[in-house]
Amino acid sequence: QVVNYAPFTLLPSVVPSALFEQAYAVQQDFNLLVDAISQNKEFLEHTLASTIKVDDFTAQLFRIHMQVLEEGLAQSVFLGINRSDYMFDCGVDGTPALKQIEINTIAASFGGLTSRTAAVHGRVLKVLGKPKEASHLLPNNPSRGLALGIAKAWELYGSESAVVMFLVEEIQRNIFDQRCVENELWNRNIRVIRKRFRDVFEKGSLDDAKRLYMDGQEVAVVYYREGYVPKNYDQQNWEARLLLERSRAVKCPDIATQLAGTKKVQQELSRPGMLERLLPGRAEAVARIRATFAGLYSLDMGEEGDKIAARAIADPDRFVLKPQREGGGNNLYGEELRQVLEKIRDSPERTSYILMDKIKPQPARNYLLRAHSPLQVSDCISELGIFGVYVRQGKEMVMNKAAGHLLRTKAIEHADGGVAAGVAVLDTPYLV
Ligand code: ADP
Ligand code: MG
Repeated sequence: QVVNYAPFTLLPSVVPSALFEQAYAVQQDFNLLVDAISQNKEFLEHTLASTIKVDDFTAQLFRIHMQVLEEGLAQSVFLGINRSDYMFDCGVDGTPALKQIEINTIAASFGGLTSRTAAVHGRVLKVLGKPKEASHLLPNNPSRGLALGIAKAWELYGSESAVVMFLVEEIQRNIFDQRCVENELWNRNIRVIRKRFRDVFEKGSLDDAKRLYMDGQEVAVVYYREGYVPKNYDQQNWEARLLLERSRAVKCPDIATQLAGTKKVQQELSRPGMLERLLPGRAEAVARIRATFAGLYSLDMGEEGDKIAARAIADPDRFVLKPQREGGGNNLYGEELRQVLEKIRDSPERTSYILMDKIKPQPARNYLLRAHSPLQVSDCISELGIFGVYVRQGKEMVMNKAAGHLLRTKAIEHADGGVAAGVAVLDTPYLV
């Protein structure tokens, strides 16, 4: 077992306050949108139809989704914890604009560790003789907001002896981030257990009312910090996932909400009229959401897909090619994008990807501190994430909040990758 400090920037990074506020202001809208999509069987079915023909992982998730719906949902309380990520696109006149990179609806991480980064950067600024600047840093505690959502779902589940189960990886790389959320729950007298899919397969069971038990202990909430990439699953783990989804326990997220976070869904949302259909009567929310969208393009077979594929092959630096994967390091850029797209342009395989306009932020200099790495100044770009938390009971939204933020910064040499992928580091926004 090896313990390292989480990587971080030496100095906080400058973020335009108007864009920061815009990102906070749209978070409740995104919560509503994700929740609406998760309840819209037809939309998910229609949107993912082409993808599931070629992408086995999405297809397997979708099969479980359909199976659980056919059987009838036992779950009546729903808990969403998501993180909407943005970069600041630099327009031709130099004005930055807030553009969404993606929304993470499962295992959105670093809410715990980032609850400490403002204190780190505050100290650094004081050491540098900048106490006024240090006091300018905003307090930020997503782990508390996330825990309040979990606690609310636990309470509405309505069994005082039931526990919250964190579903965690086989090899636990980010345990301290999770502990921050866990500690907040223990402080509220809510018991937390940490289990893997394998434990669920071996020791999980449902009673007649589909209550979930682990080792005889009733589980009220399952908080997934695992289960978002194909390598998390073997046959037994898929069976464990199905058992959890069939249960009455509150899943964070349920499988429909996980599907709502796919890149394919993101791309379909950008079609004219789509947001209006999903959020009827909410014109202002729709406008706020749409203002954050970058250009997104379907590669489905047909004329529309042919045209955009040809454009991307001719001008690959304008685009990012994205498969239905999470966790960083999967997207294709530049020459690699061109080569892959050329190979699959006439094959249905291309429908497992989407195309997106490449966001081009203004770089700034900083030092990235990473265990066992040499210290050097780098040209960096940042990605801002806002945590969203909501709880729905039946049809009624009982909580809908923005729960804090995360700033991650990476050297511009790396086109892709987050903190877990070893590319980005934790940062704190310095608002200007
Ligand atoms: P993942 O699910 O793997 O996190 P993302 O869509 O967040 O997928 O992409 C991973 C990383 O790639 C992002 O953190 C960002 O650094 C970069 N990236 C993604 N989309 C774009 C884009 N449209 N323009 C520029 N960089 C992007
Ligand atoms: Mg991402």
